[in-house]
Amino acid sequence: MTEETQGQVERTLVLLKPDAVARGLSGRVLQRFEDAALKIVGTKMKWMDAEFTRRHYADLEERLGSEVYNLTATFMQQGPVIALVLEGYDAIATVRKIVGSTYPDQAPAGTIRGDFSHMSRGASVTVGKAVANLIHASGNREEAAQEVELWFAKDELFDYKTLAESYIY
Ligand code: ADP
Repeated sequence: MTEETQGQVERTLVLLKPDAVARGLSGRVLQRFEDAALKIVGTKMKWMDAEFTRRHYADLEERLGSEVYNLTATFMQQGPVIALVLEGYDAIATVRKIVGSTYPDQAPAGTIRGDFSHMSRGASVTVGKAVANLIHASGNREEAAQEVELWFAKDELFDYKTLAESYIY
């Protein structure tokens, strides 16, 4: 990689949504991120309440309307989520690529949403009518910074070296 094409080390927020946790997919999902040299620098489990959901999805209602907001908020509060901060080169875009498109019927095979979402009649299986797409991942740098700060205190984030960092790079 030349200096121009080399990515920057970024941190991004990932949530294993209630459907991923309830289906026992946490280990397999996490494996995909670790396999791509994304380093876990923070993790916790949380049952989101209405207020916290509003803070996490602060722009969703404005962006997609109150019906989508209400469906998503209800879905996110139906069970606990596992939150992760992942660090790595171009972590924000890399995680989004591994996760796949928002609507699972459009997510290609090989992505988490494409491989693990349950499909029905060619569309996404819904819980209520929310899109049960297993994962949340920050969309861009600004969102990642806001979301990491919302979910994690500074002393809940860790600096350490993985073996890959120590021996390969
Ligand atoms: P992403 O999670 O891929 O970044 P968005 O930020 O656009 O996607 O939407 C946030 C979440 O809201 C989605 O992951 C999905 O769970 C839910 N959602 C989005 N669009 C719809 C929709 N049309 N109907 C129901 N739920 C939706």
